[in-house]
Amino acid sequence: MGGRVIPFQTTILTLFPSMFPGPLGQSLIGKALAEKLWDLAIIDIREFSFNAYKSVDDTPFGGGAGMVLRPDVLDAAYQSLQEKAVGPFYYLSPRGTPLTQEKLVSLSQEAGVTLLCGRYEGVDERFLQKRGIEEVSIGDYILSGGELAAMVLLDGVLRLRPGILGSKESILDESFSNGLLEYPHYTRPQVWEGEAVPEVLVSGHHARICHWRQEMAEKITRERRPDLWHLYEQRKN
Ligand code: SAM
Repeated sequence: MGGRVIPFQTTILTLFPSMFPGPLGQSLIGKALAEKLWDLAIIDIREFSFNAYKSVDDTPFGGGAGMVLRPDVLDAAYQSLQEKAVGPFYYLSPRGTPLTQEKLVSLSQEAGVTLLCGRYEGVDERFLQKRGIEEVSIGDYILSGGELAAMVLLDGVLRLRPGILGSKESILDESFSNGLLEYPHYTRPQVWEGEAVPEVLVSGHHARICHWRQEMAEKITRERRPDLWHLYEQRKN
């Protein structure tokens, strides 16, 4: 008999609480939230403002455009977490370590994660330094806020948690999981607009199908992502 799965505890610090769960409330991840396979706690940073105007930001020292989130307000929100926050604490930031599938796999083995979503120009550097906060980026481009980045990270982690996706095999074959991009997929109709699916896929010959898929994955990776192909070859040798 399987025991009860302990929910993966996610905590989000944001200025826009109503953005959550957003897309994470849909499909398999949304169903898993309803079934308490993961848990979502939202901390509204604005509640930790020190003034009647509920302000959380101020102008940057040294001049320049935009506003910066204050360290004292952020720290009050951070200190309020206590046992709510389990697992690593990350600040979503374009300056951070790029998010990879490897990182998602390792994160999926934690008890949870806490994510700070920035806005405006970002957050006061002293808060990050004093609390030793790791920064994580979802790519080399700039979003208006960390909320969508947090959702990307959570979607990627949650689908790796036990009981959330239907089939474990689909995760093992996916792009990046073995250092390669994935092979092409085909479904019915067997002939579409005069184009038949590759013969090997309807042969019923499991070993030939595996071999063909491996070859296609290697070809696509070589053509589309020379950087990944180079790493894959290095690991193989
Ligand atoms: N001034 C910052 C810079 O140039 O690095 C950009 C700030 S951005 C407009 C506002 C917030 O969006 C950031 O504090 C961060 O939380 C989030 N953000 C933007 N792009 C991101 C990315 N690629 N990965 C993760 N978070 C991002």
